Amino acid sequence: MSLLPDRPEDFLDWIAINDAVADDPEANRPDGSLFPRRHVFGAYVASALAPLVLHGAVRHNRAIVTEVRRDGALWHISDSEDGHIVADFVVIATSHPSPSTPAVLRVLEGHDRFVADSTRTGALDAIRPDDRILIVGNGLTAADIVASLARTGHRGPITSISRRGLRSRGHAPFAQDPLGEFEAAPAHSATALLRRVRRAISEAKLAGLTWHVVIDQVRSHGHAIWQKLPVSERRRIVRHIRPYWDVHRFRIAPQVEEVLEQAIAEGRMEVLAASVGRVNRESETIHVELRQRYGAPLQRSYDAVVVTTGPAHGGILESRAWLSSLRDQSHLQLDPTGLGIACSERSEAIGADGYPDPSLLISGPLARGTFGELMGLPQITEHAAFVAGELATKVKSMRDCA
Ligand SMILES: Cc1cc2nc3c(=O)[nH]c(=O)nc-3n(C[C@H](O)[C@H](O)[C@H](O)COP(=O)(O)OP(=O)(O)OC[C@H]3O[C@@H](n4cnc5c(N)ncnc54)[C@H](O)[C@@H]3O)c2cc1C
Repeated sequence: MSLLPDRPEDFLDWIAINDAVADDPEANRPDGSLFPRRHVFGAYVASALAPLVLHGAVRHNRAIVTEVRRDGALWHISDSEDGHIVADFVVIATSHPSPSTPAVLRVLEGHDRFVADSTRTGALDAIRPDDRILIVGNGLTAADIVASLARTGHRGPITSISRRGLRSRGHAPFAQDPLGEFEAAPAHSATALLRRVRRAISEAKLAGLTWHVVIDQVRSHGHAIWQKLPVSERRRIVRHIRPYWDVHRFRIAPQVEEVLEQAIAEGRMEVLAASVGRVNRESETIHVELRQRYGAPLQRSYDAVVVTTGPAHGGILESRAWLSSLRDQSHLQLDPTGLGIACSERSEAIGADGYPDPSLLISGPLARGTFGELMGLPQITEHAAFVAGELATKVKSMRDCA
């Protein structure tokens, strides 16, 4: 979780120097690993940025960008605080779009305990201790919801569903180095890649290691793997393999896993492979038909429904007026895999004419249609450093020409 790709221990060093987990004994795991709370990471990021802001290298405007417009060679950026910036280069690094409500759940809009975006502050405040809860989506956000509810004393039953009923796996039982070779001769199809990953996992097991080492290696070789796959194969991966990739790649923190395991063991929580069928409201009660993947439909009643289906990447260009407007002006288009915004290998946005724009860059998860695995901090910081390098070269050559 380091901000500096060439100093992987930076966050750990910062924690040690600042004694930042002194108030959280659970952060130190029996195997010697460290799982700090998220706000500790936030404080680390803030402390890294503070000197840059203080010395004026970075000007931090607290405002929401509302419009980005091109006028000749310059970009004009307007914001919610009536600010206006003129820039030679723009980097779109706004990350994941908000989740979008699945169409079948829209009838619940306006219900006090329908939580469409659980990432909003206070999203769970209306949920009462004995409420029966349906969580739609089974990933790490769902796990966070269960842990957050447990902390505030929730004791009612919870149903958590996803199409396949898969749950995020835990972290490796002991520290191991990544293993496997996927970079030197990358696979050219989804099937070949899957076969190679499976073989590498079998080899790792024979060597007394766990599957984690192979998935970690695939993550770090993600860009090379993705680059060699034709778009049709990338789409196959997104459609068929992604759910399995996600549960192995996004691992649950041990503290959160313990809460989930306890809720399941006590019979308070069930995890189903199901999708939502019919939904209707009767006063405050929400009746839901759960269409099970392997079984008869279930008719259930809930007091609250929480959506944790993840960011709506495919709808990114419709998610904000300024992004739609950039698309309408032909500066942006959706990546063909539907994972984000189309960009070149230099992270330059590809416009409607199919050409990259050297003055408009995409950084972070929105670039993952081109760069593959760009969701976790290690890859995001590496990519951010790459984009910064590209930008520095552009600025230098612009100055040299001036
Ligand atoms: C709950 C949660 C837990 C996570 N846990 C982990 C983890 O344990 N390990 C891990 O590796 N990754 C984790 N991730 C993923 C990781 O945090 C993100 O992928 C990463 O933060 C993305 O970095 P970023 O800089 O691209 O975007 P962000 O950190 O999301 O930053 C985007 C910035 O853009 C700003 N912004 C957006 N729209 C506008 C606008 N219109 N105008 C102005 N500003 C705007 C936002 O305010 C924000 O400051 C987690 C994500 C979440 C949501």
